[in-house]
Order: sequence, then structure tokens, then C-alpha cells
Amino acid sequence: MGNDQLVISLDSGTTSVRSIVFDGKGEVRHVAQKEFMQYYPQPGWVEQNPEELLAAQVDVLRDALEMAGKMTGTVTCAGITNQRETTIVWDKHTGEPVYNAIVWQCRRTAPYIEKLVELGLIEAIHGRTGLVPDAYFSATKVAWILDNVPSARELAEQGDLLFGTVDTWLIWNLTGRRVHATDPTNASRTMLYNIHELDWDDELLELFSIPRSMLPEVRPSSGDFGSIVLDGQDTGVPITGVVGDQQSALFGQCCFAPGQAKSTYGTGCFLLMNIGDKPRLSGNGLLTTVAASPDGKPVYALEGSAFVCGQLIGWLIDLGLIEDARSSSEVARSVEDSGGVRVVPAFAGLGTPYWDQDARGAIYGITRGTTKAHIVRAALEGLAFQVFDILSAMEDDAEMSLSRLNVDGGASLNDFLMQFQADVLGVTIERPASPEATALGAAYLAGLASGVWADIAELEQLRGASTTYTPLRGTNQVEHLVAGWRDAIARTITRQ
Ligand code: ADP
Repeated sequence: MGNDQLVISLDSGTTSVRSIVFDGKGEVRHVAQKEFMQYYPQPGWVEQNPEELLAAQVDVLRDALEMAGKMTGTVTCAGITNQRETTIVWDKHTGEPVYNAIVWQCRRTAPYIEKLVELGLIEAIHGRTGLVPDAYFSATKVAWILDNVPSARELAEQGDLLFGTVDTWLIWNLTGRRVHATDPTNASRTMLYNIHELDWDDELLELFSIPRSMLPEVRPSSGDFGSIVLDGQDTGVPITGVVGDQQSALFGQCCFAPGQAKSTYGTGCFLLMNIGDKPRLSGNGLLTTVAASPDGKPVYALEGSAFVCGQLIGWLIDLGLIEDARSSSEVARSVEDSGGVRVVPAFAGLGTPYWDQDARGAIYGITRGTTKAHIVRAALEGLAFQVFDILSAMEDDAEMSLSRLNVDGGASLNDFLMQFQADVLGVTIERPASPEATALGAAYLAGLASGVWADIAELEQLRGASTTYTPLRGTNQVEHLVAGWRDAIARTITRQ
């Protein structure tokens, strides 16, 4: 079905924006990409100019529409996937932002979080939003803008200002300022959204002194967000899919059933596990987030991340232990095992489930016989154990077992790492041939709402050939390896 239909995915990332044309088979036909500026006005502060971001996104959209015009088939719809949490506030009459976009990485609102700790509100906020309160999320960023931009609070209270994450800013502008909306996946990252009621939480709005009139309407991730208008002309292309980037990757990887998870092995590592229709809270410091739903029924996910993944490979290169990232797999395979060496990749502390920010990376078990290859192998094993720890915490929190892990990101190309990962997890790993899981998720959601694809069963069938890794080691061997890792962790933790 739908082979003559094209779907455009607008992938609005943190450092670059892209527009990708997919065909009815879910295959990439064209990619247009553009970088935009980041601003660092003070240490720890990160901003973007919303107008520059929008202009870049419109440029690549025009490029994609032009290329699609030369292809057989017509553009049926568009989807948006975006960097999450980044906060924009603008004047609804002039369309002008009152301040730069405050980017998710920006730490300026850390004092607001300290205040929440003092007030003893962390657990209550976690209970409602599924988030462990942090400056990362949008709530304190909106509060900062209202507290610090002259006359912003007054204008907001008069109903003149609008708030949006990047999806909302794009939708509003691309629909000729007609639609002020977001979807539940993005809303769930603001720390203002009640994930049980699936609505903005009035008590949280009061706590952060944010008028409800600023907030976008929350519409289903797969549904109508209005038609794209360019140069005052309706293009006839509706936006019918909107989803935050991590949830988009989960959907693009076809993790539709509870127990299915995806892991993105990039600079850091991002994991999401579908936990079904109940928003279970984590006792291990993981986040509960709303996942993309194909049909409007609630779906939740647990989310966790590790700061260090590909950057550990970069460090091995800097030390001269390997020539390039690719060769790490071959070097690791040149030895039968790590020779008792263990690497704990805790450059910036230990995350899930240990939460020890004072811990630092470590190499244990070095003997006179240790070679470069043993260290390289132990480093890759350490990355796999980190993911094992996060997924084990997810299984524990969700009271369900992992059924399949889908992988993407640069380091997922490492055969040794993926095989070892399958071995320690004891589940099959699948790496799709297409590296575009994030953009594909938004395209799928848009295409489902526009009739390009009938249902998720059809999406499953579109998945092309993937590389699979099945567990090869016996239980005893895995237990021995895990015991070695636990020992290394116990030696690395700073508090007893
Ligand atoms: P990001 O999106 O965070 O920039 P990418 O998904 O592009 O990251 O992945 C880049 C990271 O993957 C780099 O840190 C690099 O060291 C690592 N990487 C790339 N190829 C391999 C490989 N074959 N084995 C291990 N790591 C790799």
C-alpha cells in the first residue's frame, strides 16, 4: 500500500535540522540537512535563536519539497521529531520570541531545583510527572524567562505570551500561526504535565507560577496538527505526526509491545523501554515518560541514559590504544577474553542505578601480561555492562522482562560490542539497516494518521533486513562475567 505516497520527516535536532523524504516502503529518498548556531552566554548556559532554528528548518523543508516534486508520487503528510525540553516563549501577536530558546543542556535554573529539594517536593513532582526534577526539563526554564525578562510576567498574565517546546514553535510557525499544539511525548518532558491524567497539572503550574493560557493544546502524536503554509500559500501538506526524538526512535524501531526496548549508542547512550499502558514509577532513578501511541491510547516508557558511550572509544583513540573507532571490534576479538581486566567507564560519575556523582572511571585487574587488546576489550565490555545495568533496573521497575533490544547510533556498528551485549543480556539484538530510526518514527506516526500505512502490523512488515545478534554464551559464563563487573563497581563506588 501507499508506494506512490511520500512522507516528509522534519528532524529538528540539537545542533542541526534535517528534512527527510521517505517513500511508502519507509525507505529514505532524500535528506536535506543544515546546522545552526549555539550560543553560550555564560559557563553552563546554552541558547539557540528560535528564528535561526526556524529558518534552517524551513530551508531544508523547501529543499525536501522541491526534491519530492521531482519524484514519482506525492507528499501526503509530514511529521516532526525534535530535541526535547528546549524552551521558547514568544509574543502571540508579533510572533517574536521574548528571549532565546533555552536549550535542554542549559544549567542556569539549577537553583530552582535546589529550592524544590529544600521544600521537600521532589517525590511529589516525580509522582505526577514521572521525572526526577532537574534543570533539564522545561518548567524551570519557563519560570526563569518570566522571572528575568522585563515585563514578560505581566504579558504572560494578560494572555499575550505563548510557550512551546521546539515542536510547538515549528507547528505554530509552519501553520501560519494558527495551531498552538504539542503532543504527549513532548508535554511529558516539561515537568508540567501529569502523566496519569494526561493533562497539564494545575498545581505544578501554580508552583512554577506559569499561566495556563501560555500552554499549547496537547493533541495525539498521530493526528492532525494543521496544514503547512509557506510564503502565505497552503502547501496542502498536513502535519500529522509529532513526537520527541527519543520516543520517535522507539517508535521508528517498531518497539510497539511492552518489554521491547531501544538503545542508541552515540556519544552517550539513550535507552527507552516500552512498559505498556501503565505509568510505573522507577525506584532506581529512571524516568517514566509518555511514549508515542499509534492510536491515541496511552503508552508509557522508562527512560535511562549513560553519559559515556562512544566517547570512551574516542578516549581509547586519544591514548593510542586503537587507530580508529572501527578497529576496536577487531582488536577486542584478537584476545579470547579481557584477561581479568575490567574497565568502568565512569568519567563523570556512576548513573543508573548507582547514582554516585563522585565516582570516577577505573581500570582493574592489570597484570604484567595485560596488553592493549585486553584493555580495549574490557572497555567495550564495560559499555555493554552499563546498558545491562540500566535495562536490569528497567525490568525491575516495570516488573517485566526485556523481550527484544533494538539498537542504533554510531557504536551500534561495533560487532564485538553488539554480540557481547546480546550475550550478557540474554536477548536477541536487532540493528536495522537504516540508520534513520528517529526520523522514521515521526514519519510512521504521520503516515498512520494520513492513511499511508494502515496499522502497526504494516509498519512491522516494512522493516528491512536487520542484523541480528543472538546470545551465544551459557548462563554460567555470563554469571561469571557479571560477578566480575559487580566487583569492579563495588570498588569504584565512593560511598559505603
Ligand atoms: P552522536 O549522535 O552522539 O554524535 P553517533 O551516533 O554519530 O553519535 O556516534 C558517534 C560515536 O560512536 C562516536 O563517539 C564514536 O566514537 C562511536 N563509534 C562510531 N563507530 C564506532 C564503532 N565501529 N565502534 C565503536 N564506537 C564507534
